[in-house]
Amino acid sequence: FGGIVKEPPMHIVHIAVEMAPIAKVGGLGDVVTSLSRAVQDLNHNVDIILPKYDCLNLSNVKDLQFHKSYFWSGTEIKVWHGKVEGLSVYFLEPQNGLFWVGCVYGRANDAERFGFFCHAALEFLLQNGSHPDIIHCHDWSSAPVAWLFKEQYTHYGLSKARVVFTIHNLEFGANLIGKAMAYADKATTVSPTYSREIAGNHAVATHLHKFHGIINGIDPDIWDPFNDNSIPVPYTAENVVEGKRASKEALQQKLGLKKADLPLVGVITRLTHQKGIHLIKHAIWRTLERGGQVVLLGSAPDHRIQNDFVNLANQLHSSHNDRARLCLAYDEPLSHLIYAGADFILVPSIFEPCGLTQLTAMRYGSIPIVRKTGGLYDTVFDVDNDKDRAQVQGLEPNGFSFDGADAGGVDYALNRAISAWYDGREWFNTLCKTVMEQDWSWNRPALDYLELYHAACKLE
Ligand code: ADP
Repeated sequence: FGGIVKEPPMHIVHIAVEMAPIAKVGGLGDVVTSLSRAVQDLNHNVDIILPKYDCLNLSNVKDLQFHKSYFWSGTEIKVWHGKVEGLSVYFLEPQNGLFWVGCVYGRANDAERFGFFCHAALEFLLQNGSHPDIIHCHDWSSAPVAWLFKEQYTHYGLSKARVVFTIHNLEFGANLIGKAMAYADKATTVSPTYSREIAGNHAVATHLHKFHGIINGIDPDIWDPFNDNSIPVPYTAENVVEGKRASKEALQQKLGLKKADLPLVGVITRLTHQKGIHLIKHAIWRTLERGGQVVLLGSAPDHRIQNDFVNLANQLHSSHNDRARLCLAYDEPLSHLIYAGADFILVPSIFEPCGLTQLTAMRYGSIPIVRKTGGLYDTVFDVDNDKDRAQVQGLEPNGFSFDGADAGGVDYALNRAISAWYDGREWFNTLCKTVMEQDWSWNRPALDYLELYHAACKLE
């Protein structure tokens, strides 16, 4: 640790298409912000280059100023600079309107839009006279940075930089990801188990020598139950029981659920196949059968899935109006109240590169119930089955988990969780305290990234 701190500061530039909280779609947006903050806190210089979407949440950008304008590929690109969560961000606004379309993803020409952005970002670094040590790009959407840089920009004077590429989800754009894997100096994915799960994939298989699994962290300032405007009573591990009781009541009140001391299962997710939709539905019914309450916050990019959940919501809101609420929207403040007010957060993903919801759940003293896959396997240790595996990590067991992808699997974990709540409240409360005391921040993973950045810089 000491050695790393004494090294001269590095200059790291992220080229990314998502950034929390101004342009967040999923975990990628969280990681760009929170990894950058952690690395900056270790005294390195970090810049982020992001498209200037018309749908940016500008209220979270401080000191937004016009920086300069340049031409690339016949298009004027206006560059703005501002601060987001204390990070320096350059916003590229091509005047051809590629990012004036009301959304981050979802256009037929997304690949072209982001390809243009990647090229424009490298051009900006060149024209701006920047000499970063590391250019860090992410997923298919900024994958082109890796080969555009190596094929074109190393010749133009940006030669010092090394390219690091992170796979947040191999499911999307595997061809672009494969190409970036070939060109990047170092590559990572977001958990050790996911790195093994995808090691046989053709996009990854021939590049294992430069490929590492580093677990994501969460930002302890952005997710802090002691300092959170969305919850009624600030709490730490010391007053977790009182704090969570107040949040549960506020949540029940807000959503019109019965104000009662019942086990409450929360689900906060994109509603896609990856997230185990059939398992989520099964768990909702099982929880209700066991007398619990369920709150789901989720939105589906696919309108058929959205309609399906609208129907389920109508059904549940008439059959179990005081115990079930499905909120089919994207709602950041509500997500905070659910993390704080739930007893359990369910994450039954079919696959999960890292998963942030289980980590955030623990930060708020909620107990994760997860399927054993990817990063969920690396961060959740079953109270009955994983004592030894937890001990290797220097941790106490912290949740409930299951194998398989059928109803029986979910039941196995969920029934034990709910029974523990009903039958052993003192033990359960201690568990809430234990998970809150575990450190799922970037403290450790940021050092792993720094080591990787240093190794990349030393490459010929
Ligand atoms: P993924 O990136 O696959 O969507 P992650 O678990 O890595 O999954 O990250 C999901 C992030 O998005 C978490 O921060 C979670 O709290 C947030 N999130 C997901 N759905 C919603 C929603 N409907 N409203 C608010 N936040 C959400």
